[in-house]
Amino acid sequence: MKIYYPIIYEGKRPNENPLYLLSYLRSHSDIAFSTHTLTPQNMSELENSEDNYILLSVTSLSPFYKFHHLLMMLRKTFRHIKCKIIVGGAVFYILNHQDVLKHYPEITHICVGKGEEVLKAIIEKNLPRGVYSAQNFDRVQKYLLIPEFAVKDVVMLTFRDSRCSWGKCLFCHHQTRCMYPNKNAADVAHEVMHYIDAFGTRYFYFFDNHMEPETLAEFLEILFHRGYAKFHPQFYVFGIRVDGNLKALNPILQKWPKATIDGIAWGVEFYDQEILDRFKKGTSLAQIDTALDFFPKYGTVNDVYILLGLPTITQKNIAHHERFIEKQYNNIFRLMTSFFLFNDGLKISEHSDEFKINKLDYQFTLQDFFMYAVDIPPIRTVYTDFTSWDEDLQKYASRGETFLKYLSLYQKFNKIGTCPRLSFLDEKTHTILKKIRPDLYFG
Ligand code: SF4
Repeated sequence: MKIYYPIIYEGKRPNENPLYLLSYLRSHSDIAFSTHTLTPQNMSELENSEDNYILLSVTSLSPFYKFHHLLMMLRKTFRHIKCKIIVGGAVFYILNHQDVLKHYPEITHICVGKGEEVLKAIIEKNLPRGVYSAQNFDRVQKYLLIPEFAVKDVVMLTFRDSRCSWGKCLFCHHQTRCMYPNKNAADVAHEVMHYIDAFGTRYFYFFDNHMEPETLAEFLEILFHRGYAKFHPQFYVFGIRVDGNLKALNPILQKWPKATIDGIAWGVEFYDQEILDRFKKGTSLAQIDTALDFFPKYGTVNDVYILLGLPTITQKNIAHHERFIEKQYNNIFRLMTSFFLFNDGLKISEHSDEFKINKLDYQFTLQDFFMYAVDIPPIRTVYTDFTSWDEDLQKYASRGETFLKYLSLYQKFNKIGTCPRLSFLDEKTHTILKKIRPDLYFG
């Protein structure tokens, strides 16, 4: 049996998810298989047999057209593709699976969520064509990347999966089940030491949505104590909440000679107490300021995630938020913005009346995202268009009208680096934005 996998670049970074899945399969399955990277150049050499598999992973919308082009090339090269094609990656949380299967009939299996156990079951049990959710499979067992599938980019790490133990924010999806084994500080420190020793890895990325500073401090203490500071490993930390006990990190960061946490992502959302409380973020403005002041002295940069376009926000709230960005500008490396999208899976959907959300009968598709600029099928996303009551405008405003209230942020702050296409806006709004920030648009 042969397994083919392409490595798709998402922006400047390779999506190396297949290497994790193949390491898992090699470590936890007796199935014999060989692996082959798949590129447009070597596609015609692929052995088009029912015994073989192709793994395709895509994590976000922007690189989806590359995924599309690969499938189109396979279709063109083979007319009838006999290999089974398994697709997965975070983007499949937000796409309509029936649409995906309809527009890409060569796809045999869609994996939703963590792929390790799903892939193992599909191959070992020869599961039929269909959509498989990781939530319905066994929990992933412990494993490490193996030399055959060593990643070239950063190694992904986690203590407690991407699960968030707060889980109350009304605008956020919350995972219901933790799929990866829970690991303590010593477990993860041993993983890191292994990767440094075996592969010479230097860059690591923690994807936990909610990590305790105490656990991170304990983990760094173990590495330091074992003499690993001399290798200068660097960690990007995705999910410490601003209300975490950051002081717990002081002793180890003061000892460590060079910035070891090179970047940290903060889910600030919106700097206005009234708004944070209304959407149940559970944090305070003082905690946000303390958090942003904490890391720069240790050489760590702050990436700040802000969420614009929430229903009920007024010009007064936006002005407050804007003053915060001005005040903290030197402490911010990148401002990552997202614009609120509505779907029935969000907690806020249970409060549509309270938030004066008027759901429209239109489901955004991939074509809305790519603005019809690339030849991509109209696969529906989970996002529904809506209007919401706007106190300033004294009417129900469309997403585009709401977005224009935030225009000054885009004009003033060139650290905002997120492509507005992710916001599923109308053409008129995009035209206005493109004029003031052409740098934000790709393709
Ligand atoms: S926004 Fe962040 S803190 Fe809030 S529930 Fe989601 S992951 Fe947790």
